[in-house]
Amino acid sequence: MDYLPLAVQLKGQAVLLVGGGHIALRKASLLLRAGAMLTVVAPSIEGELMQAVERQGGCIQQRPFEEADIADQRLIVVATDDPVVNQRVAQLAQARGLYVNVVDHPAWSNVIFPAIIDRSPLLIAISSAGTSPVLVRLLRARIESSIPAAYGRLAVLAGELRQQVKERLTPITHRRRFWEHLLQGRFAELVWAGQEDAARTYAQKQLAQVDPLEKSGEVYLVGAGPGDPDLLTFKALRLMQQADVIVYDRLVGEGILDLCRRDAERIYVGKARAEHTLAQDDINAVLAERALRGQRVCRLKGGDPFIFGRGGEEIEHLMAQGIPFQVVPGITAANGCAAYAGIPLTHRDYAQSVRFVAGFLRDGRVDLPWAELVHERQTLVLYMALISLPLIAAQLLAHGMRPSMPVALIARGTQRGQMVVTGTLDTVEQILQQPGLTAPTLAIVGDVVLLRERLHWPSV
Ligand code: SAH
Repeated sequence: MDYLPLAVQLKGQAVLLVGGGHIALRKASLLLRAGAMLTVVAPSIEGELMQAVERQGGCIQQRPFEEADIADQRLIVVATDDPVVNQRVAQLAQARGLYVNVVDHPAWSNVIFPAIIDRSPLLIAISSAGTSPVLVRLLRARIESSIPAAYGRLAVLAGELRQQVKERLTPITHRRRFWEHLLQGRFAELVWAGQEDAARTYAQKQLAQVDPLEKSGEVYLVGAGPGDPDLLTFKALRLMQQADVIVYDRLVGEGILDLCRRDAERIYVGKARAEHTLAQDDINAVLAERALRGQRVCRLKGGDPFIFGRGGEEIEHLMAQGIPFQVVPGITAANGCAAYAGIPLTHRDYAQSVRFVAGFLRDGRVDLPWAELVHERQTLVLYMALISLPLIAAQLLAHGMRPSMPVALIARGTQRGQMVVTGTLDTVEQILQQPGLTAPTLAIVGDVVLLRERLHWPSV
């Protein structure tokens, strides 16, 4: 992070603005809106700027800048069209450890003005640290259009109720839940519609009805997809942002964790091959214990929770204890990897069925119904098969599968650094020699793999 966004209280504070043209006027309007006590210094100052500053009791100095002007200022904003003056003011200010902004010159500034979306008291600031003002403008337009103007009023009304809610609902989880309910439901609708008195009455009624001792923990079993955060469902995102605790394992990537609620507690439960950070029983116990404490627990799983995800075991355990839960499906590795690698899992001419198979080793063996797996026109998707692939290939060959049957291996599918290598069943050992084929890797066996080349799929 190059800059830390801080919201500064400037009411009645001394701020120096060096410059008297239209850019200075823009900055002056902003500073005056924040209640700053402005001094404007410049040899020539626009009339509109002069009036605005004087109206708010500020000070106009129509003369060149002097070093003494920066004494006792909280913030200095420089907006002249003379780079020599701009740099001099910046150097003097920085030498004294003052905050200074030179408009459109981040290199001479130690603070920058972010673009803002003002729904006071609600404020959204966007900054690209000076790298792309146009990107900031585009983003701002998107956010502007999606946040109703009345959001500010919603914040005001919530502020009025805050103390009362705090007194009635002591545990923070209860308060949080009450606010989430209020701010996403009828209360907000009434504020949008301008019916603020009705909104106040509604909120009072809700507050009177809420049970201050209720413990309503819940577990969300959420499929996080194969890695690309864009593949999350809306429901997954919503629950990730409202959970108090996130319980996640190795398959859930950083980009996805970044989308969880910032202040949620995070519990890592591992699960790499041979690195069982917490055994399944312990994971079950953590989920139940947190939910019984009244917390909303998001159990984030790679792919889909019900495809080789042990989601079934987790919900069995929750059901036995009467703990409410929701299951949110995710895009399983087979779907994600196939789509991003350009391999349709079924195809009228090549495969009428597709089979998801777990290829993990147990006591050095892979137990699978081999004869059923050997079919022309069937695609096999092998999960957890990186280590066992030579064994699986040998069994498939022994049970009559064509040696020329195409095979694709997809490592880190849908993620940055995705790797796809292809070959045939009898060259599996060679394919596995490719450097970079590390877990998680998925194997696809079947003629559909050929379509990747036919479609001229770009390598990612
Ligand atoms: N529930 C998950 C699967 C968990 S089993 C799902 O529905 O996808 C773990 C196996 O999934 C890994 O060994 C690997 O074979 C596969 N896998 C998961 N994510 C993957 C990814 N991004 N790229 C390739 N394979 C992946």
